[in-house]
Amino acid sequence: METLADRIDRVNERIQQACRRSGRKAQEILLVAVTKTLPAERLLEALTEGLTHFGENYIQEAKQKIEQIHQGTWHFIGHLQSNKAKIAVKLFSMIETLDRLSLAEELNRQAELSGKVLEVLLQVNEAGEDSKSGLPPDQIPSLLEAAPSWSHLRLRGLMAIPPYEPDPEPSRRWFRSLYQWQGKWQSRFPDLDLSQLSMGMSHDFETAIEEGATIIRVGTALFGSRS
Ligand SMILES: *Cc1c(COP(=O)(O)O)cnc(C)c1O
Repeated sequence: METLADRIDRVNERIQQACRRSGRKAQEILLVAVTKTLPAERLLEALTEGLTHFGENYIQEAKQKIEQIHQGTWHFIGHLQSNKAKIAVKLFSMIETLDRLSLAEELNRQAELSGKVLEVLLQVNEAGEDSKSGLPPDQIPSLLEAAPSWSHLRLRGLMAIPPYEPDPEPSRRWFRSLYQWQGKWQSRFPDLDLSQLSMGMSHDFETAIEEGATIIRVGTALFGSRS
């Protein structure tokens, strides 16, 4: 039987190999363990094994687990409704899926009310898929223009979920283009911090690392298939 510790070792080894291939350092990569559908007991085990950052997609599910566990650093990676902004601010350190101005304003308002500074990434819908949240690249600059007015949000970079491909190689172009958008927007908005790129999941995170990912979101490779 493969243990969680074995799986973590294997993921870390894959991270290191991708970093070696691309001349990067493994410390530059933040591993976010995606724990949707996982019961709290498995989460406690993950904490014991040294995982520190966790990603959840659904507010209700996350609330139950986070309030029970009271540990870890939590990233929200699902679609966030504005009426859940208040609870999201309470539970999460980073919202990776900010995709509209009205949501930014509501998160900022709630963060201010609770005296907290919330980290955010802008979700980019590079392929313009209807099934996914995120803004098409041409609408991102309007949010970047507004970002300095968000007193209680700290913009850290970009996030993307490219079209699903079973093999990693076809996704490379989307990872590469997100990196290129980052460069373009960073030079156009030099006072903003767009340094973080969240891209890559269990089956393609090596490719994402080779193309500049700083945050990878990994579920099945750590915990097995969700079924
Ligand atoms: C579920 C999920 C992941 C993790 O996917 P795996 O293939 O299990 O690694 C990563 N990112 C998002 C946004 C997800 O919803």
